[in-house]
Amino acid sequence: MSSAQMEIIIGWLYPKLMSTYGDRGNVITIERRAQWRDYDVTVLPLDQNSTANDIKSVDVIVGGGAQDRQQEIVMRDLQGAKADAMREKIENGTPGVFTCGSPQLLGNYYEPAFGKRIEGLGILDLVSIHPGENTKRCIGNLVIEVTASRLAQELEAMTGTKPYLVGFENHGGRTKLGKVEALGRVVYGLGNNGEDGTEGAFYQNAIATYSHGPLLPKNPFVADWLIQTALRLKYQQEIKLSPLDDTLAMQGREAMFKRLKVSR
Ligand code: GLN
Repeated sequence: MSSAQMEIIIGWLYPKLMSTYGDRGNVITIERRAQWRDYDVTVLPLDQNSTANDIKSVDVIVGGGAQDRQQEIVMRDLQGAKADAMREKIENGTPGVFTCGSPQLLGNYYEPAFGKRIEGLGILDLVSIHPGENTKRCIGNLVIEVTASRLAQELEAMTGTKPYLVGFENHGGRTKLGKVEALGRVVYGLGNNGEDGTEGAFYQNAIATYSHGPLLPKNPFVADWLIQTALRLKYQQEIKLSPLDDTLAMQGREAMFKRLKVSR
């Protein structure tokens, strides 16, 4: 089967409620990088108007950040058959990138600064707690080394170098991991909680991170990993993506490593 006959459906979680700090950039990056290789791409919003079958139909899932109030609205909708469909997708290895508010919702629960605890889907074994309005938010540039072992190996095989991700975080909630593997270790910034040096989580093929929507534009090889993983799973065949010219993105990364004095 040639790439022109293959299609990738990107499921975008609650675009109107969950897309803070440029998280839409993650959707655009996957879309464009797949199109540039001649794959057909459909972006399917997954929101209050969607059904469980819509969720089941997607090949890759993107979830952005949200304010506490929006997270509450989303969780009121993501119940029953829709919650089961999300669980099934992630358990069965559908790749995804979930930023900030999204991992909080995929976790066991999120306690906002005000109001009641928001129960999560319990897919990722983690809890997030906002310590209150008087506590400083975690804001700023972020650099992590991917330590989730299978992902680190696969990214290294794609790029030939140890996988470092450049990002930007802005969150009040602090996340503590249970049995789930961390996505990486913090090299610069605060990550999950500013204390234990962990950042994000990796489960099956779901990447959870506090790094916002420039994550994929800044680290395009992660977008390629998502596309490749999605197509392998869907078409059950080896997929080799043709290379793209990422010179500018790579220069941007180098500039950030230099500015933040990160040695690799
Ligand atoms: N409401 C969450 C927090 O402050 C998520 C914020 C976000 O997605 N930017 O931790």
